[in-house]
Amino acid sequence: MSSQPPLAGGATGPDALRPLLLTVLDALAEGAAARGGPLPDGGPEAVGQHVAKTVDHVLPAQGLGAEEALRTLVTLVASGAADPADPLCAAHLHTPPLAVAAAADLAASALNPSMDSWDQAPAASELEQLVTRALAAEVYGGTGSDTESHGVPHDALVTTGGTESNQLALLLARELHRPVQLLAGANAHHSLHRAAWLLGLPDPVTVPAPAGLLDPAALDEALTELPGPKLVAATAGTTDAGLIDPLDEIAGLCAAHGARLHIDAAYGGGLLFSRTRREKLRGLERAHTVTLDLHKLGWQPVAAGFLAVRDTADLAPLGHRADYLNAEDDTEAGLPDLLGRSLRTSRRPDILKTAVTWRALGREGMGALVDQVCDLAEEFAAAIDAHPGFELYDRPALSTVLFRPRDADDTGLAHVRRKLLAEGRAVLGRARLDGRLWLKATLLNPYTTRGELAALLRLVEGHTPR
Ligand SMILES: *Cc1c(COP(=O)(O)O)cnc(C)c1O
Repeated sequence: MSSQPPLAGGATGPDALRPLLLTVLDALAEGAAARGGPLPDGGPEAVGQHVAKTVDHVLPAQGLGAEEALRTLVTLVASGAADPADPLCAAHLHTPPLAVAAAADLAASALNPSMDSWDQAPAASELEQLVTRALAAEVYGGTGSDTESHGVPHDALVTTGGTESNQLALLLARELHRPVQLLAGANAHHSLHRAAWLLGLPDPVTVPAPAGLLDPAALDEALTELPGPKLVAATAGTTDAGLIDPLDEIAGLCAAHGARLHIDAAYGGGLLFSRTRREKLRGLERAHTVTLDLHKLGWQPVAAGFLAVRDTADLAPLGHRADYLNAEDDTEAGLPDLLGRSLRTSRRPDILKTAVTWRALGREGMGALVDQVCDLAEEFAAAIDAHPGFELYDRPALSTVLFRPRDADDTGLAHVRRKLLAEGRAVLGRARLDGRLWLKATLLNPYTTRGELAALLRLVEGHTPR
């Protein structure tokens, strides 16, 4: 075996990659076939033993070669995957990535541009600017090209996901309005609380969210009572139930009280692509900042997070100098300054897969996928509602369906979920809402069929203790 492992880039990189990729593709196919379902059976203990036994030496004294390593470990991870491309793997906002996006991600790895300075990412950084501006235009309107000269100073930053986007939104609010008080619905994502803790903000005020939606009357009251600068965080697509807060009404209240508004649209932001469902996001454009996650309703491999910012000037606090990356004379001489576009330094060109996907599918293609999963969720919810053995939580606003077998109490329901996991039969989530536990199906696979969802219901029925 070669003692000189080849590089992925350059003119010869592709030739070195080609046979390795064939090995990877074979291993992916073999692993999926060996698994034969949404996840491996046996639960954590069996999987742990199998992994430990197969890996044997993590860092052997002598290497086993690229072919062996890829074949063994890719097969291992594929056969032991909870694969979101399987219709019965539907617990989380864990998307089955599109093949075109995964292929683009390979190019990103091979070229490895790092987005912290122009001299590491000349074209990739320009592409990032075009795509982030286009995304900001999807949220806020405008053309997305040459925004400054059109007087529409919207922008978007690339992040690792909703968590980082929410953190950045709070950071910008803190820098612009110190000390800012966060008000978030009881239905808001946990990352907002962590961000407040991390940034040294006062404990967030929790606004009641009866029926899973932030209550505008309660928000109005809280905004009236609280002194000082305030940031309201609303949610477009809650993680538990996929519900959309009354965004426009909340935006009106924020305007009336002079509060800043952040909307966490990590999940629901995908509706921007849907011609018929986009309307559900009315009011999104009134937010100062918006979290978006294309590794949810955007079919990208992780990571594909964004923070859209209505006023580009709000990004000024992120400006930062490091002589080796953005020396003042370099910037003056015309080298773009990228350091202020993230809190990270080295940064993957995650924009490439999104840019490729958008070009390949167009807005129509993206919207069709969004509509497919939302339609599927509506049909699944109707089927549950019509089934005498099941109770439906609510009609879905997005692609999440919460339900429970009528025969099971909370303990029984939790048991059903774990049993399906342990047997490798189905990956369902759980959510506690209105004081009860629900099974959660988050439908992100556009090709799941009604028949497969009917089979899922039969599985749950068959596993419910009585
Ligand atoms: C998923 C999610 C997040 C967190 O996003 P990550 O990409 O997992 O960091 C934040 N908010 C909401 C509403 C989400 O659904």
